[in-house]
Amino acid sequence: MEDKAASGIRQQQLRRKRINKMKASIITGMGIWILISTILIVTLLVKMILLENELDKLAASVISVEQVVENQNQKSAGSPEENAGTSNTISENDVGTDIQTSDGSTAAENVQDNSLTEGEKQKVYLTFDDGPSENTAKILDILKEKNIKATFFVIGKEDDASKALYQRIVEEGHTLGMHSFSHKYNVIYESLEAFSEDVHHLQSYLAEVTGVTPMIMRFPGGSSNQVSNTDMSEFIRYLNEQGITYYDWNVASGDATSQAYTPDELVENVMNDVVKYDTSIVLMHDSSAKGTTVEALVPMIEQLQAMGAELLPIDENTKPIQHIPADSVE
Ligand code: ZN
Repeated sequence: MEDKAASGIRQQQLRRKRINKMKASIITGMGIWILISTILIVTLLVKMILLENELDKLAASVISVEQVVENQNQKSAGSPEENAGTSNTISENDVGTDIQTSDGSTAAENVQDNSLTEGEKQKVYLTFDDGPSENTAKILDILKEKNIKATFFVIGKEDDASKALYQRIVEEGHTLGMHSFSHKYNVIYESLEAFSEDVHHLQSYLAEVTGVTPMIMRFPGGSSNQVSNTDMSEFIRYLNEQGITYYDWNVASGDATSQAYTPDELVENVMNDVVKYDTSIVLMHDSSAKGTTVEALVPMIEQLQAMGAELLPIDENTKPIQHIPADSVE
């Protein structure tokens, strides 16, 4: 009997021990869980506060940019000539090196009286950079069919097909402009010597192939590019001395941004901005990768004509659109 009673007590003790053990492990588990949750909550709170601060800073900088632009507008009663930078960030990368450049940097500084005057016919200059390529031929076909002249800022290519395209551009009444021979940012913007050599190379080459010496240029990445290691005013001074006029743009189709716009969206980008100006210089590209630009061209021309715009090639009478004004460089 005693034996039975003793073993019963032992079993009870054992059971109690097991229960205590289980309790302890449940409490430990809950403790760890609460600790981890607390750490997570604290981390998330800290991150949220940091993000809120960032947002505040961003909001403040947007407001200050808007104020600067507004002040400029009031001063000149015009609009910033590079609206492009405020709406979309434009990159003018493509051929050769793939450096993204932005034209938005000086938006608030350079203002021209170019806002739309009522009753005035809008002038729209379609420009194509980085050709020639097989897309240049397609674009020339469309322009011919629509009886429209445009401007091509070309790079240097020495194959026969490219030579024929330079000639076609000139023969069909378009304006042939320069866009640098190599289009290699790191080479041409290395020094004034490298830049002037490249420009001279392209100018004499095009003169030899077409019989026309081009006197207009578009800087790769625009005059406001953020890629050049050399101060752009050195190159601007050089072009001024050479009597070469450079043209940036105030309307960007967006065909060189990282976003893959559809042809309809390219048209929309252009139409949204063209309505603001009496003179619009539209940035597009005719390098081989820009098939959507070719597709966008017919609807773009039709919509521009429907709004009564005049589509013109750049000539000596064209009001230059310059992100850094040429006359600001002494
Ligand atoms: Zn280019």
